[in-house]
Amino acid sequence: MARTLITGGTLVNPTGGIAADVLIDGETIAAIYAPGAATDVTAETVIDAAAKYVVPGGIDPHVHMNLPFGGTFSSDTFETGSVGAAWGGTTTIIDFGLQRPGEIVQDRLAARHDEAAGTCAIDFAFHMILGDVTEEALKAMDELVTHEGVTSFKLFMAYPGVFYSDDAQILRAMQSASNNGATIMMHAENGIAIDVLAQQAVERGDTDPVFHGIVRRSALEGEATNRAIVLADVAGNVPLYVVHLSASEALAHVAQARDVGRNVFAETCPQYLYLTLEDQLGAPGFEGAKWVCSPPLRTKHEHHHADLWNGLRTNDLAVVSTDHCPFCFKEQKELGVGDFRAIPNGMAGVEHRMDLIYQGVVDGKLTLERWVETCSTTPARMFGLYPRKGIIAPGSDADIVVYDPARTHTITHETAHMNVDHSSWEGFTINGGVDVVLSRGSVVIQGGAFHGRPGHGKFLARDTNGYLS
Ligand SMILES: [Zn+2]
Repeated sequence: MARTLITGGTLVNPTGGIAADVLIDGETIAAIYAPGAATDVTAETVIDAAAKYVVPGGIDPHVHMNLPFGGTFSSDTFETGSVGAAWGGTTTIIDFGLQRPGEIVQDRLAARHDEAAGTCAIDFAFHMILGDVTEEALKAMDELVTHEGVTSFKLFMAYPGVFYSDDAQILRAMQSASNNGATIMMHAENGIAIDVLAQQAVERGDTDPVFHGIVRRSALEGEATNRAIVLADVAGNVPLYVVHLSASEALAHVAQARDVGRNVFAETCPQYLYLTLEDQLGAPGFEGAKWVCSPPLRTKHEHHHADLWNGLRTNDLAVVSTDHCPFCFKEQKELGVGDFRAIPNGMAGVEHRMDLIYQGVVDGKLTLERWVETCSTTPARMFGLYPRKGIIAPGSDADIVVYDPARTHTITHETAHMNVDHSSWEGFTINGGVDVVLSRGSVVIQGGAFHGRPGHGKFLARDTNGYLS
């Protein structure tokens, strides 16, 4: 097997940064050497990481490739989306199987495997969305956990009539998880109340994209988050993972639950740390549709951004994902001209997450170690991939990013690789950048070029949540 030596860099794991050389043998990490100790080691390939960081490859545990939504499909395939991810230093994605009313869970998971097979440039795994919690679906949960390596199930308190589960269905799914060890992921917004406010807004003639954000009140995310926390506790302290947390109110409930020892975890996304209801979603005319996602971007006149960065520091927010779900402006976002309710919800981001959170390090909001932890190590442990993924240690997969803190680049649509016709991050400057990316020992990105191939990525069967006591 081919050996690769990464020399001269600063190796950063959650425990800290040290000067070290990393030896890769085949697809896994073979050894870590103190500087100078690897002089006798032979390797076919040597990568010079002097003055650079050597970090575990990013793990984005919340992406939606080719997702049917709002009468269309998210515009990235597993191929284009995984290539975009690789460019940005992400080497594992977790997408979702999708069961809707009347559908059989196992069939929908199999269909998702068919879509992804042979197309991903990096490794991938699946959660399962339950859009119809029936007796059959509850039995399917056991089977997926035991036999399919799918150990987390996403439910929606939003989108009545589409993916929505009522409290009875949520409680039943949580009770099932309490038996089979699964983690429940929750989209926590009160969709019943939101739909009333949305209807009233449209009746008033308030149809522009910004009203999507105005009717999806942060208080309704807080309420749903608290309700999910209470139901998870009633079901037996079932692990609850709140996805794409955007609001101070929701964070306060998560923090309070964690303080009393509940198995409650949460993620946020770069858009909720940087973008606002006024500056992006409120762009003139229909432009704001580019930033329609749920939960929505929050107002800059409250303190959501500051609270979320603080939550990342304190671990009340454990993970940064992207909720990558791109829709083109032309013909997709445009479905909602004249009625914000018909704008497909989602934006592209899988390529930019590592950079955007690294910028938080540059800006003094997070430590280097916390960047690695929130973007790689914790997602691996939370979703049963650790220590195969999420750390640079002997025996782990050689998913490694050489990151250059001396590189400055500006995000533009022209230079990004995801399959979408605009960038939600146009003009954002990053004081750092990806230099080399390896996936299971193979170079995927180097010298500003893609060296990977569709189909290199393997499906990862996952264990259960690694944070339970
Ligand atoms: Zn999502």
